[in-house]
Amino acid sequence: MKLLVTGGAGFIGSNFIQYMLNRYTNYEILNLDSLTYAGNLENLKLVQDNSNYTFVQGDISDQKFVYNLFQQGIDGVIHFAAESHVDRSIMDPGVFVKTNVLGTQVLLDASKKYGIKKFVHVSTDEVYGSLGATGLFTEETPLAPNSPYSASKAGSDLLVRSYFETFGIPINITRCSNNYGPYQFPEKLIPLIIANALSDKSLPVYGDGQNVRDWLHVEDHCSAIDLVFHNGISGEVYNIGGNNERTNIEIVQKILLQLGKPESLIQFVKDRLGHDRRYGIDASKISKELGWEPRHNFESGIKETIQWYLSNRDWWSRIQSGEYRKHYVAQYGSR
Ligand code: NAD
Repeated sequence: MKLLVTGGAGFIGSNFIQYMLNRYTNYEILNLDSLTYAGNLENLKLVQDNSNYTFVQGDISDQKFVYNLFQQGIDGVIHFAAESHVDRSIMDPGVFVKTNVLGTQVLLDASKKYGIKKFVHVSTDEVYGSLGATGLFTEETPLAPNSPYSASKAGSDLLVRSYFETFGIPINITRCSNNYGPYQFPEKLIPLIIANALSDKSLPVYGDGQNVRDWLHVEDHCSAIDLVFHNGISGEVYNIGGNNERTNIEIVQKILLQLGKPESLIQFVKDRLGHDRRYGIDASKISKELGWEPRHNFESGIKETIQWYLSNRDWWSRIQSGEYRKHYVAQYGSR
């Protein structure tokens, strides 16, 4: 089996490649990543010498390049590559449309032209929009994205769906809640708070801190994608979630407690434009139909994750300079 993993140098993609190489010792994995600010080959240090693993740098929206790659013979596609940060999509939506929508269409066209056994499109619960205090997103919830990021992901979801309906390409779409775990880029809530708290910098929290997200360990997301890739019924959407809804401020307080840092570091900042209030996932379909269950308990998983960032300070310190620093100052000022 030869798998094309797009965006494999990012947070979830790199965890997924490690997961698959450990689990399927006879699978070949080709990692296609353009290495944007979020792509980091250091995430793959543990597998870079594995003879079943190959990295190729390229852009998913470059049709000629992608077609050349597919000519080598690809059995399955797991599509992670995306612009993934909501704040950046508010500042500069264009690249989100180019990568998330056009890039996905190029991969779908290549899959149609050269033939594949399965195309898994890794999407997000954010395409469903925002929930009130009660209720959960099911696979039937209408798409109502509120940010340029989630709108571009919803656009790509609909294209993927259409290639199943129109051309019969064997696809699945997964929609997962917020992931946490090792190798997450330090612009996202958990690593951002850990990194700032360790340097005694202020901790920017949007609005009143009461926005609710459901959290899932990245390894549990990987096991769900593995199951969907192998056993998912073509054309189906599968929600993936951890049943761990927490307010943002609860997450921040938990991190401060474990690091022994004071809550006075918390600084409430002007709310994100169009900020979704609550996400909550009903993941009963993937559990019932494919037998998926998350393995990580949230309380111990978050503790281990904080420990990972403490033990891998060099990894995120290196990222925190350069381009990321420019973005941070534009977003939060120079605090
Ligand atoms: P990430 O930003 O950490 O990684 C994205 C990767 O894609 C990077 O390595 C980047 O270099 C690469 N990339 C970007 N544009 C590219 C292009 N044009 N061509 C090739 N490669 C390109 O993102 P992540 O958090 O690992 O998310 C991966 C996927 O999972 C995304 O599609 C995202 O929408 C989805 N998702 C993420 C979460 C989450 O909590 N992080 C939750 C649900 C779904």
